[in-house]
Amino acid sequence: MRYSLDLLHFFPDQLNLYGDGGNITIAKKRCEWRGIQFRLHQVERASDADLSNADLFFIGGASDREQALVTDELQKIRSDFKAAIEDGVGGLTVCGGYQFLGSYYQLYNGEKLEGLNLLDFHTVSRVPDATNVKKRLIGDLHVVNPLFGRMIGYENHGGETFHDYDVLGDVVKGYGNNKRDKKEGLHYKNLIGTYMHGPLFSKNPRICDHLILKAMERKYGVTSLEPLDDTFSKEASKRLWSRCIS
Ligand code: GLN
Repeated sequence: MRYSLDLLHFFPDQLNLYGDGGNITIAKKRCEWRGIQFRLHQVERASDADLSNADLFFIGGASDREQALVTDELQKIRSDFKAAIEDGVGGLTVCGGYQFLGSYYQLYNGEKLEGLNLLDFHTVSRVPDATNVKKRLIGDLHVVNPLFGRMIGYENHGGETFHDYDVLGDVVKGYGNNKRDKKEGLHYKNLIGTYMHGPLFSKNPRICDHLILKAMERKYGVTSLEPLDDTFSKEASKRLWSRCIS
């Protein structure tokens, strides 16, 4: 049987901070190395998104301005999007792309940008201090959980996210969702939200494979993936981890 997966990449031009879109290149290669055809659909307008035929989706990070623009556009397909997530379509959403899936994003001036309200969580931007410096949450982010093991990434955000869903992991170094909880990201059904920017699949291929496997299970009933040689990736992750933790 010829396997294939269809991935929707939402707003590749507007939402691609720090090379977040590199995750798609990695997902494509990890599918192709296993003989799974990977079909990429770039979504520039909400009406382009065929969610009923999607197996995976990806949304990268953005500044507040872009975030507001694409949220308005995505409101047009909100109910299809919600249905897809509830039906187990998997996705990775990064930083701004993660934030706007919640109910609102409160800007530092108190103004609330309405989110897509696909899940019940919210984000509040950090407020500048007396010297007018808004201390963003920036730096290396080290996270651990039993499913994905040790994860490594880089975060840069002004918003702090609060929710009661499962998380992507516990924070060992950095901030993750907010300064208070020592928790990073969100994991709901097959949707992953994260503050780890850039091509995080390169350092954390287990997250990528988890999403590919869930998509293969949902579409074909496949319950395992052919292992790949991740020696370099593991070695890089091990070194970065030991350098940052020591
Ligand atoms: N605008 C959001 C924030 O500053 C997201 C930024 C981002 O995606 N890096 O929190």
